[in-house]
Amino acid sequence: MTIARHIAESLQASSWIRKMFEEGTTLKAQHGADRVCDFTLGNPNVPPPESFKKALRDVAGNAAIDHAYMSNAGYPETRQAVAGQVAREQNSPVTGDDIIMTCGAAGGLNVILKAILNPGETVVTPTPFFVEYRFYVQNHGGRLITAPSLPGFDLDLEALSRSIDENTRAVLINSPNNPTGVVYSADTLDRLGKMLAEKSRGMGRNIYLIADEPYRDIVYDNAVVPAIFDKYADSLVVTSYSKTLSLPGERIGFVAVNPAMAHKQDLLAAMVFTNRVLGFVNAPALMQRVIARMPGEHVNINEYARKRERLCAILSDCGYDFIKPAGAFYLFPKSPLADDVAFVRRLQQELVLAVPGSGFGGPGYFRLAYCVDDRTIENAAPGFKKAIEAVK
Ligand code: PLP
Repeated sequence: MTIARHIAESLQASSWIRKMFEEGTTLKAQHGADRVCDFTLGNPNVPPPESFKKALRDVAGNAAIDHAYMSNAGYPETRQAVAGQVAREQNSPVTGDDIIMTCGAAGGLNVILKAILNPGETVVTPTPFFVEYRFYVQNHGGRLITAPSLPGFDLDLEALSRSIDENTRAVLINSPNNPTGVVYSADTLDRLGKMLAEKSRGMGRNIYLIADEPYRDIVYDNAVVPAIFDKYADSLVVTSYSKTLSLPGERIGFVAVNPAMAHKQDLLAAMVFTNRVLGFVNAPALMQRVIARMPGEHVNINEYARKRERLCAILSDCGYDFIKPAGAFYLFPKSPLADDVAFVRRLQQELVLAVPGSGFGGPGYFRLAYCVDDRTIENAAPGFKKAIEAVK
């Protein structure tokens, strides 16, 4: 074998999303890209706000900027600007020292996991979950343990509690959620914090709570993503500007450590080191300067709200069973066939591309990413109808 065994196994395990992507490419070549309605990828299609373009021009026009290495944690002025925003969101006295700038949320998660995991330790996450989590945990010698969610996809605290043992290093949650669009309530998070505090006390070791929040600003109907720092001391937020500013290619994000964490200095020092030795070294300098100028800004959420309304109306007219998402830009309807892969194949016959829920540890469902043209949503309506009628 020419590549590492565990990588070959991972390629096999992640094959569903890859497969849908490849089959989609073939369908587009056969039928023309315009005729294929592709809901497979969470690649934002709403443009970044005007303030981003202005900040980019201002930074690029400043002849005095340097391009040197910096502290592995990032520029002090960027960390300070980010800290101001996080302090407001988390009701917590976060300072620039509590922030590490990273190459997106993906980079941030790897920085955290490398800093905290010993070989064989586990990270517990509720299902369905962002499929890359398993690989990120494996990158650092850990194991991802999944716990089912309640019907409606709220956290099942008892299931999470049962999955925690003396090997557990962290619980990883994602709200607003990919793929379900669910936002966990303050009450749920409060009870999660209490459960983790009790477990940590009982086992004589701290369990981290990692909140992955790249969709924090993409919420509807005045929903608010509650803070976690005031609910559990050993907590971290990891996020990015990939979705909220539509900048996934720029690889800019950060990790924020709860200032109430007793051993936060050790953890911060470890993460500065892991950011370096994972080869990121530091988050992109240009983007750090840009986002420092625009705290609190985000894309026009009304665009996603409109797409959400239209897709929900179409699916509901056809008779699909789904929960209206409170945030992010995904819908996770129940598959009309128990076999979600078979139903996704049926949709494909109508030139509608979705991802089977099995790919997210959520069999019996399928995911639609509605960060697409309005036209794609309209064009898909007859296909959604024909596919569900064909299997009823
Ligand atoms: N976490 C979740 C839940 C995601 O959906 C994504 C991307 O789709 C990421 C993390 C990684 O995002 P990025 O590394 O672009 O910030």
